[in-house]
Amino acid sequence: MSKIKYFSGETIPLEMHKVRIVQKLALPPIEHRLEVMTKAGNNTFLLPNEEVFLDMLTDSGVNAMSDRQLAAMMVADDAYAGSATYTRLETKLRDIFGMDYFLPAHQGRACEHILAKVLVTPGSVVPMNYHFTTTKAHITLQGGVVEELVSDAGLEVVSALPFKGDMDIAKLEATIARHGAGKIAFVRVESGTNLIGGQPVSLKNLAEVSAVCRRHGIVLVLDASLLADNLHFNKTREASCKDLTIREITRRIADLCDIVYFSARKLGCARGGGICIRDKDMYLRMRGLVPLFEGFLTYGGMSVREIEAITVGLEETMDEDMIDQGPQFIAYMVGELERRGVPVITPAGGLGCHVDAKRFVDHIPQEQYPAGALASALYIAGGIRGMERGTLSEQREPDGREVFSNMELVRLAMPRRVFTLSQVKYAIDRLSWLHENRRLVGGLTFVEEPEVLRFFYGLLKPVSDWQQRLVAKFRADFGDSL
Ligand SMILES: *Cc1c(COP(=O)(O)O)cnc(C)c1O
Repeated sequence: MSKIKYFSGETIPLEMHKVRIVQKLALPPIEHRLEVMTKAGNNTFLLPNEEVFLDMLTDSGVNAMSDRQLAAMMVADDAYAGSATYTRLETKLRDIFGMDYFLPAHQGRACEHILAKVLVTPGSVVPMNYHFTTTKAHITLQGGVVEELVSDAGLEVVSALPFKGDMDIAKLEATIARHGAGKIAFVRVESGTNLIGGQPVSLKNLAEVSAVCRRHGIVLVLDASLLADNLHFNKTREASCKDLTIREITRRIADLCDIVYFSARKLGCARGGGICIRDKDMYLRMRGLVPLFEGFLTYGGMSVREIEAITVGLEETMDEDMIDQGPQFIAYMVGELERRGVPVITPAGGLGCHVDAKRFVDHIPQEQYPAGALASALYIAGGIRGMERGTLSEQREPDGREVFSNMELVRLAMPRRVFTLSQVKYAIDRLSWLHENRRLVGGLTFVEEPEVLRFFYGLLKPVSDWQQRLVAKFRADFGDSL
């Protein structure tokens, strides 16, 4: 797993960094956790962070920064126009992705907003390997339709396939033939994927997608928000990348695309985002929207300090030691949970460990949100905040029918360089206990359901007194332990 072998024969990930700033954590007793969860409407997005022991909600904007990133923030050049800080970012992006033009935006979804506004028209189609919540919302808002073309194997929860994020090329050809190339706004590849377990996309598959797009004159857009993890998998799982540096793999990926956009809350371990564009006309079509929605072209809604941190963070992403950390910790967690019989998505991907709620709590019907229920139970059992990625994260049909998600997942994100191995072991332990007691976990039902992105604000309640029974079992098993 790691490049460093242990005399003991153990395979455990080893950090190639040391911790120099820490934040104190608290773990409130389980009775208090139940109260807090009830007040939060069983929605982990609504938990106050001071009540959370391990915040595994997301990898967005919560990755640990390096000493060099923090240092760079101190020399940021504050200027509305023409900031030297901005020029440093633009130069770094040109160096890494090899595209001439760049537009800054305050985060990933802001890039999606601009892309959708310029490229999507009512009735146009956007084929992609898999959707992301904000991407789909922006495309739909412009009247476009998303078609998901991930290979069937990508949706199999248990698998040994190394690149489950790959797009099905035959499906892509069929989609283009069905609608006509003129109807395709653009093709989007998310590398790595978010909602299907952080599964990566191979360079080979991207090359095939690119060839199809070029043949039909269709714009290929890469969502590179989770590219750091994907690069780790290209390097370690793809024979053709084995002897390439991370920088070389990155450039090969970018060379296949027309546009690369990213959330710098993930890629670059800071907060911001942007769109790299190859073609000048395309750049000019989008440029006008940046001052309108984000800020002037040399900051795009980002603070100059964050821009400096992104520039350094992007360079650090070219370092294997840096990008290996997340995937190695995730692989450890997934492997240990598998050994204990806890259902997880395999193979281990990027972003986090994905617990398969469909199997974990197979007695909870999808209309009672099994993944949401399990996320609620895990906070109660361990003070661990995960994120529901299942039916709750879907949007109802216009006629009010539920859209049942392909997968019901509780995602336990592994923010990069943040947690220690003992904290990961604690999470494994509490998940195993919960699995042992899974029959005690019951479903959830909405009390307040917002129309758009309901998972962010929705309030739910348990369908029975299962949470009280879970607390009682915890006390019986653990005594007065936290
Ligand atoms: C997080 C994410 C986004 C959105 O980025 P934000 O900065 O949160 O707006 C888009 N695509 C993918 C794949 C992501 O993981």
